Amino acid sequence: MRPPARDPLDDPAGSPPSSPPSSPPSSPPPHTSPSSPPPHTLPSPPTRVPPPTQLAPPEPPSPALPSPGPCSSPGPRPPLALAVDIGGTKIAVGLVAADGTLLERRRTATPAGPSILGAVLDLARPLRERAAACGIATAGTVDPRGRIASSTDLLTGWAGTDVRGAAERALRLPVTVLNDCHAAGVAEARIGAARGARTALVVAVGTGIGGAVCVEGRVRTGRTGTAGSLGHLPAPAAARLRCSCGALDHVEAYASGPAIERAYLRETGRALPLAEIGRLGSPVIADAAALLGRVLAGAANLIDPDAVVIAGGVSMLGAVLLEPLEAAYRAEALPGPAAVPLSRAALGEDAGLVGAGLEALTRLEAQSRREAQSCPAGS
Ligand SMILES: [Zn+2]
Repeated sequence: MRPPARDPLDDPAGSPPSSPPSSPPSSPPPHTSPSSPPPHTLPSPPTRVPPPTQLAPPEPPSPALPSPGPCSSPGPRPPLALAVDIGGTKIAVGLVAADGTLLERRRTATPAGPSILGAVLDLARPLRERAAACGIATAGTVDPRGRIASSTDLLTGWAGTDVRGAAERALRLPVTVLNDCHAAGVAEARIGAARGARTALVVAVGTGIGGAVCVEGRVRTGRTGTAGSLGHLPAPAAARLRCSCGALDHVEAYASGPAIERAYLRETGRALPLAEIGRLGSPVIADAAALLGRVLAGAANLIDPDAVVIAGGVSMLGAVLLEPLEAAYRAEALPGPAAVPLSRAALGEDAGLVGAGLEALTRLEAQSRREAQSCPAGS
């Protein structure tokens, strides 16, 4: 098992936006061929049709969740989800409504080692009474039972933790656990930049590079929780650089925030933070962006998405990164995927929190529906 990208929302190089980009929406580019790319603009999230109300079944199948009780009637108020986002530097909790509204948010610094889960539960407990379910987004690969299959050095000792089991015992709520990039993908697909897209490819570029493939608002996590790991696709680069997962020449080793900083140091002998490298307009950013664009085009050729979304702290570099990324993407992708809109993420640093809450509510609704179907009429 290879470790996933680190939490891009914790990227020290820069925080994602707290609100949607202010540039006006634009129409998707016309159908084009690789030899005649459309203008290199990354539009704000376009206005699209409302998201589908019929969602695909979750993947992988989730074991049965605790429920309020068999044959119970739903309460008069729409349920809220207690949402948690666990990153390498901070833990955030909040309450999320079914339309994605974040009602409350609390934060604390992520403690070292085995105290992580305790800190999460201490922060979450005061909101527990107002919630009908809990969704947890976390750095690391999350297996289908809500355990951390592998993690990064940023969360020492986190691998192997039964997050779902511990949270269900402590909070007495049905708990859903997702990788943070997967959760951010859910949020972007349901209410963000890819809203209305049947299939969305979301890439988060930060301290690491992660991603999500979402179909009709649901993230495809794969058999082991590894799906969407865009940072660990082989990159057609000349150097032989070691990826955080141990392999050579994965795109994360060239295009993550720390990778760009290392490239600048190699080129110039100077150590500068990413934001400063961006201000200087260094060619190392264009090189990383071009590689990322090519790899993203390869992924798009594979799944043929309706929308591609660029998220994470590195995307905040703006045009110096996004223009060469889009140019490389459009030149590399086959004609169909080359024509889809590339958008910047709309939800910023709340994406993981909101996506975890939305996923928890979706699973709660599915569970309630199954229970209602199994109950005799009139009970
Ligand atoms: Zn890798």
